[in-house]
Amino acid sequence: MISYKELGLVNTREMFKRAVAGGYAIPAFNFNTMEQMQAIVMAAVETKSPVIMQVSKGARNYANGVILRNLAKGAVEYAKELGCEHPEIVLHLDHGDSFELCKDCIDNGFSSVMIDGSHLPYEENIALAKKVVDYAHQYDVTVEAELGVLAGVEDEVSAAESHYTKPEEVIDFSTRTGCDSLAISIGTSHGAHKFTPEQCTLVNGVLVPPPLAFDILHEIEKKLPGFPIVLHGSSSVPMEEVNTINKYGGHLEAAIGIPEEQLREASKSAVCKINIDSDSRLAMTAAVRKHLAEHPGDFDPRQYLKPARDNMKKMYIHKIVNVLGSDGKLAQ
Ligand SMILES: [Zn+2]
Repeated sequence: MISYKELGLVNTREMFKRAVAGGYAIPAFNFNTMEQMQAIVMAAVETKSPVIMQVSKGARNYANGVILRNLAKGAVEYAKELGCEHPEIVLHLDHGDSFELCKDCIDNGFSSVMIDGSHLPYEENIALAKKVVDYAHQYDVTVEAELGVLAGVEDEVSAAESHYTKPEEVIDFSTRTGCDSLAISIGTSHGAHKFTPEQCTLVNGVLVPPPLAFDILHEIEKKLPGFPIVLHGSSSVPMEEVNTINKYGGHLEAAIGIPEEQLREASKSAVCKINIDSDSRLAMTAAVRKHLAEHPGDFDPRQYLKPARDNMKKMYIHKIVNVLGSDGKLAQ
């Protein structure tokens, strides 16, 4: 058993409490490479923000669990080296799909896990989440569960259509599972193609997706005052990065995200964790494509991964400062 506490990581409990009370959200950035980790840490240190570094099952398959754990341990030490005395870094499992996977992560240094039983019948979702919570809480690991289904594709998670969370279920669900936070479905979506053009309205030449269901969010807040709410699938898919990718040989059609204005509004509510993955993928790919197109003779990976890292760091800082508002929110 390797406890996250030995690695210098923290769970989400205290940071969520402060985020809900303070009307901001903690960024949850997915990572599976060293450059993403470095960019996340640099951005968090520069902005003095707590941060959740999350890993999906696909990331664990890609990068190996032992390597990712040591990258997270390295993240804490790197943050200190960059001058942050008390970094608040969470290592979180994104979309855990079984008790066994969650247990394996808890036993191997994760400070937080998500158990996603949202595709199961209601009672089975509760039973699975409760089993994970009972195990996790023995080790002071926090648990995120999900009610409602998001559309879109993310690694091994995919659903054709979304089902909004039913506010009448949230009290029963959170009480019976004992979960520490709740991911809900109010119109966000996984991936870089969150909506079809047909679902959007054309405003000044830009496709604007349907607004998030803030009425449902507010109803949930009323039923669970102060309870931490999580939004998945919240990349905004910046057109600037999509255009760069397409200009330098890429082919991304109809990539549409969640407008940042809506995420800014959600951050001020009980939403205290916002998941961003696709935007980092886009920032990395855009920078790599641009560099290689402009420097066709380069073949040292450092030559194109450095601008990729710089571009991701810029994006992370922008999200922290201009969208989520978690800058300057470290406890000490
Ligand atoms: Zn997700």
